This record gives sequence, C-alpha cells and structure tokens, in this order.
Amino acid sequence: MSKIILGGGLSGLSAAYYGINKFPYEVITLVEKSDRVGGWLKSVRQDDGSIFEQSARTIRPSGEAGANTLQLLNELGLSHEIVPVLRNSPAALNRMIYVNGNLHILPNSLGSMFRKQKPFSKPLYRYFLNDVVAAKKKIVDNDESLYSFVDRRFGTEIADYLISPMVCGICGGDAKEISVKFLMKSIFEKEQEYGSVTRGLIANFLNKKETAPREPTQLEQRANAEKWSVYSFKNGIETLPNALRKDILSKGVKIDLNQDIQEIEVHKKSILMKRTDGTVLVANHLISSIPALNLAPLLKKDHPYLSDILSTFETASMCVVNLKYNKKLLRQDGFGFLVAPKENLPLLGVIYDSCCFPHEDSTILTAMLGGFKFNTYFNEKTTAEEVLNIALKNLGKILNISDQPDNFKVSILRQCIPQYTVGHSKKISLIENYLSDNGLALSLCGASYYGVGVNDVILSAKKAIDEL
Ligand SMILES: Cc1cc2nc3c(=O)[nH]c(=O)nc-3n(C[C@H](O)[C@H](O)[C@H](O)COP(=O)(O)OP(=O)(O)OC[C@H]3O[C@@H](n4cnc5c(N)ncnc54)[C@H](O)[C@@H]3O)c2cc1C
Repeated sequence: MSKIILGGGLSGLSAAYYGINKFPYEVITLVEKSDRVGGWLKSVRQDDGSIFEQSARTIRPSGEAGANTLQLLNELGLSHEIVPVLRNSPAALNRMIYVNGNLHILPNSLGSMFRKQKPFSKPLYRYFLNDVVAAKKKIVDNDESLYSFVDRRFGTEIADYLISPMVCGICGGDAKEISVKFLMKSIFEKEQEYGSVTRGLIANFLNKKETAPREPTQLEQRANAEKWSVYSFKNGIETLPNALRKDILSKGVKIDLNQDIQEIEVHKKSILMKRTDGTVLVANHLISSIPALNLAPLLKKDHPYLSDILSTFETASMCVVNLKYNKKLLRQDGFGFLVAPKENLPLLGVIYDSCCFPHEDSTILTAMLGGFKFNTYFNEKTTAEEVLNIALKNLGKILNISDQPDNFKVSILRQCIPQYTVGHSKKISLIENYLSDNGLALSLCGASYYGVGVNDVILSAKKAIDEL
C-alpha cells in the first residue's frame, strides 16, 4: 500500500507525520512544487540575530486545534524551543485599532466593558444588551456575512470597530464578504435556533451535556499554568516545519521536491500522478494539501464537478514588510494594531514583534498590507520598493515614525490566504459528498478548507489521516 501527499506546506508535512505514524509499513511520498518544504512559513534570521517572519508568527494554544498542536510539539520534542507571550503582558493586553484617524486600545478587562471607551460611543456591555432586544431574523441558505450578523445582533460600531479589523488581521478579508461561520459558527447557529445569541447561550448552558473530561497533555498543562496567550519559537515559526521534515525523513517518508504537478488521475482505489520528468507515481490514496485553486485544474478532466466547485474558492494576496530599527520607537507597548477598513488605507495592520518577543534595544515591526484591498492599491507590476514606501508612509502617519529602518524585508505574497466567503461551508459539504458518494481515493486538508490558521491546517491533516 502507498500514499501520496501533495503539497509540502505545514498541512502536507503534518499529513505525512500522522500518516507514517499510523501506517509505518507503507510507502509515503510527499510531493512539493518548490525546492523546500514549509509553504508560506519562512523565518529569515538576520545578521544581528533578529528574525523576520514572512507569514505566520504566533500560534494560539487554546481550543481543540490549539491542544492538538501542543500535543504535536510535545511529540516532536519542541517544548524547550517555545517562547510564549503571557496573558498578563502588555503584548497580550494591548491590542489596538486605528479608526477615525487615531489609535485606540480595545477594552481588555471586565471593568473596561462597563466604561465608555473610544472609539465606541457607549460601554461595550450595552452593545451586547442590544442582542436581547434585536429582532429575530431567519437567514435564507443558513449563511450570511460576519458583518451583517454582528451588525444585526450587536450594532454597527461593533461590526466596524471590532469585527471588520479582526477579519483583516486573521485573513486579510472583508467582513462584509466573509461567512459568519468562519469565526462565529456556533453562536450564529444558536441565534438562528433560539432567536438571539443570549437566549441561545442560556439554552446551551441549561442543556449542557456532560462530556468525558480529557486529560490535558504535559505542554497544555504548562500553557495553562503559565497563562500563555500565544507563542512562537526561539528560532522562528519555521522551527515547526523543519522539525516535521526531519521526523518524517527519519521514518522513511520520501520527499519529492521541485515537482509542479499538473496531471493527476483519481480513481476509486488508485491514483496516478505525473511528475515533471514524465514519470508516473502510482498510489492507493492521495491526500491533497495544496490550495483549492491549484487542485481545481488537476481534477478538471476526470472530475469536472469537483473541479468547478474548487475553482470558485477565493484567495487574497498580501504584502508583508518586516522592519527593524536599532532603537526604541514605540510610545505604547502592545501586540500591535489593526486598521478599520472604513479608514480606506492599504495597511491591514502592524504587529509589534519586538514587544511580543523583545530583542535588545531595537524595534521590530511587521506591516501587513493588501488583503481584500490588494487590487485597489497594488498590481502585478508593484515593486518591493513601492510597497516599502507605502508601508513607511503609513507608519509615519499612524505611529509618527519618520526614521528610516536599519534593516527591512518586503515579501509580496500572491494568493496567500483563503477567503471563506458566504457559502463556503455549503461548498465543503458538496465536496465531501462527492468524494464519499464516488468512493474516491482522495482526501483534502490544508488552509483552503477547514480553517486558515496554523492550528487548523495541522488538525485538518490529522483528521484526513484519522479517517483513512
Ligand atoms: C501573511 C500571513 C500571515 C499569517 N499569520 C498567521 C499567524 O500569525 N498565525 C497562524 O496561525 N496562521 C497564520 N497564517 C496562516 C498560516 O501561514 C497557514 O495556515 C499555513 O501556512 C498554511 O499551510 P498549508 O500547508 O495549508 O498551505 P501552504 O503553505 O500554501 O502549502 C501548500 C504547498 O503546496 C505546494 N503546491 C501548490 N501547488 C502545487 C502543485 N501543483 N504541485 C506540488 N506542490 C504544490 C506549495 O508550493 C506549498 O508548499 C498566516 C498566513 C499568511 C499568508
């Protein structure tokens, strides 16, 4: 028996890891387009020891997916590499938004929910009371945009000042297009069933079924005891794909690099994959972790229905600008700030890396630009220099930083982040039904399907392997 894993990003590497552990006697081949594994995850160490992250930089320890990643890190022996941001640190407490031409710290304690705090025109608790009185509305097709849901239940200021910037920060997306199920699936379903979020939560509390307590793993216990908000690694986030690569190679997984796969045949019990030199790999099952838009053309000939659905998945592009200044420049410590889309800026937000993970007497920032606004401000011809200038101009305007950076790196990441627009979960059901009705030797994992974050793509790989 043999399996092929298509795509060597974090999800493909995780699928190979779980796959070889579950099927130690099988031939497992990981096939990757580029000359390295890790996908978007890339940590570039600078001469002075600081690290510039190209994409992801922090991981959340919470929830089912967070616990699963911690378990994986335990198994890979990476516990001692972890650098956490603690919940009581300014980097965890001070999350800011830029709106109406100013930076504002978001309410971050129970007390602050009862105080009027700009940019909100009333204390936060009053927006939540709005949910109790807001009219019940049955949503056709059981999906709507995050913006519309939050606007309906909690009011426009929560939608504009909290949810819209948050969606920009998570996926560079437009809350008016992204499905409510992307972030609020369970509370949306409760609201639809009980008429309001509050009633739904009360009903949930009263009907709560006892679930068997789960023994937290050693690392989860440490994360809870030390109160981690998020974490990264001493040598950057690429520590994780590097460790996975080393582990799967030692267990016999073959890694086939520089293979930009353009042709596959997926049957009921077999798959054929044409390599770039024309040779054909044959296996009993394919686990595809590549983006849906890349998979769509590969399935066009044999499975046009599946291909058509996959080709409707949307993505956004981003520019990431890492900046280092050899002095302290920030007036307010914090995680960073997100820009409310109504400000109409190319900037999505800025992460204060040197507050999260202090590095000598320097200021390290990462500006994220573009996302759903990419085509408004950038195009195919945009150069790294233009992106840098736009980032610096915005930092000047918002943070009053007029210094030139002592070091910088600009990355233009095209189609780097999936957009789970309204109707995403319906498409996933159609795909799952097609695969099971036809008994195809194909499973899907990766950022296109079941969540866009690091934890999600690892868990999606685990579930794909568990189901085999
Ligand atoms: C700017 C940015 C910031 C982010 N920040 C965070 C964060 O702070 N925290 C967090 O949790 N998540 C974050 N994420 C999300 C996180 O980076 C992704 O969840 C994760 O990297 C996706 O991994 P993946 O394996 O699903 O996909 P990818 O990394 O896209 O890997 C897919 C792989 O498939 C290969 N491939 C594609 N087509 C083919 C083909 N035809 N043949 C062979 N190989 C192919 C590609 O070369 C690639 O290596 C961020 C993402 C971005 C873009």
